[in-house]
Amino acid sequence: MHTIPHWINGKAVAGTDTQAVFNPATGAEQAQVVLGGTNEIDTAVTAAAKAFETWSESSLTQRTQILFTFRQLLVEHEEELGRIISAEHGKTVDDARGEIVRGREVVEFACGLGDVLKGSFSDQVSRGIDVHNFRQPLGVVAGITPFNFPAMVPLWMHPIAIATGNTFILKPSERDPSAANFVADLYQKAGLPDGVFNVVHGGKPTVDAILTHPGIQAVSFVGSTPIAKYVHEQATAHGKRVQALGGAKNHAVVLPDADLEFAANHITAGAYGSAGERCMALSVAIAVGTAADGLVTVLERKAREVKVGPGDQPGTEMGPLVTKAAQERVDNAVGVAAQQGATVVVDGRGLKIDGHENGFFTGPSLLDHVTTQMQAYQEELFGPVLAIVRVDTLDQAIDVINANPYGNGTALFTASGEAARRFQRNVKVGMIGINVPVPVPMSYYSFGGWKDSLIGDSPIHGPEGIRFYTRPKVVTTRWPQTEQHTTAGFNFPTSS
Ligand code: NAD
Repeated sequence: MHTIPHWINGKAVAGTDTQAVFNPATGAEQAQVVLGGTNEIDTAVTAAAKAFETWSESSLTQRTQILFTFRQLLVEHEEELGRIISAEHGKTVDDARGEIVRGREVVEFACGLGDVLKGSFSDQVSRGIDVHNFRQPLGVVAGITPFNFPAMVPLWMHPIAIATGNTFILKPSERDPSAANFVADLYQKAGLPDGVFNVVHGGKPTVDAILTHPGIQAVSFVGSTPIAKYVHEQATAHGKRVQALGGAKNHAVVLPDADLEFAANHITAGAYGSAGERCMALSVAIAVGTAADGLVTVLERKAREVKVGPGDQPGTEMGPLVTKAAQERVDNAVGVAAQQGATVVVDGRGLKIDGHENGFFTGPSLLDHVTTQMQAYQEELFGPVLAIVRVDTLDQAIDVINANPYGNGTALFTASGEAARRFQRNVKVGMIGINVPVPVPMSYYSFGGWKDSLIGDSPIHGPEGIRFYTRPKVVTTRWPQTEQHTTAGFNFPTSS
């Protein structure tokens, strides 16, 4: 059994404390990951601060050339990285390749840094005076990421941080840590100088060391809402810039005029893809009026058709959950839903996969007649459970969504442009799909929800990423002609 080391200053770094990493499809322990703390973070900050001195002075061309090479390596190693992710997370290899592609798009955005980092210039704002602005990197910045997208979510952060001239410390999830080390190796192969990208593994002690370290200027966090709130509170209290994205409960609204087969197809994929372990997973379908019975009939058929199995087996559509605890939590939630009066239309509990009897599997569950008072509605279950809430009108559906504490993503299925417009204008959610189930924005937009799905005010990647990892300077310039004599006024300067 191998041990997964930290990656600091271009080298693997061993540690004494370790934690088991499991293969969710077999339930077997497959590796140990080292757990860092104050010392490892301090070592990484020292290396990253040293690297910042030269990296921040490198040219835009040098930086983007390395990112172009890194992007090409991500293309060449997509299958290999996909298998690494699948083996620790449990998702299918094709789904893992999908997250690599979506993460790679952020690298592509960062390759266009020369354009997006352009400042502006105002000629002759006053007689003989010009003004221009530009943005500079912050220094050493850190990213703390969740288990569910071990490649994509860190890729939302580090390409932009590095392209803009910062140096980066990644603290990935301890449940699927290997993707981070693989990416570190690709960066090194791409020619990134040592110390620019570092990986320190661990749990709460590592996170706390990041949040309090005076040498770290900014923290990007993606994970559950309680931890996002904690990270935001602690890091801002220690003077850092913070972006903190939290959990979700995403609703799909289906109107009676929607094509039910189309809607159910996409809602099934949005609910059960990656075993529901996506922050943009559709966990609630709000059936409006006469759409309900027909929708439930098609959703039931589709839920029963989902092919569950090991993520590396061709043909598998849904893999296991990430841990035994997650599987038990989800199975328990289905039981509680039944006790609280929901109709269990499809029961995924107790699923056994031949040859993988100890894997952390649970099948798709479909719950009907769920109310907003039930636990299955109120909690982010983060598993393959779809709850149907029935309402009479679109406005009632919007009220349900707006009363929910989360506001990450939502989708509307309809044939009506008027309904779509009303929905997108009135719903208090950051990312909206119209007949699109999982509306993850492209890399040149920014990703982020509203309410408890985003703590603070900074979404991630795209233009917001550039803003987050840089700070502006505005320069006011005068080059007086030698023969020109001006008197300096004592009043506050105004333009003339
Ligand atoms: P998590 O909050 O448990 O962990 C996220 C990170 O925080 C990990 O690196 C973990 O090591 C660290 N952490 C965990 N407990 C901590 C503690 N007590 N103190 C300090 N650090 C701690 O989340 P997860 O289970 O890995 O991921 C699933 C969650 O992430 C879900 O809630 C999901 O909705 C959310 N998520 C959100 C987005 C988004 O863009 N909004 C994207 C992906 C995942």
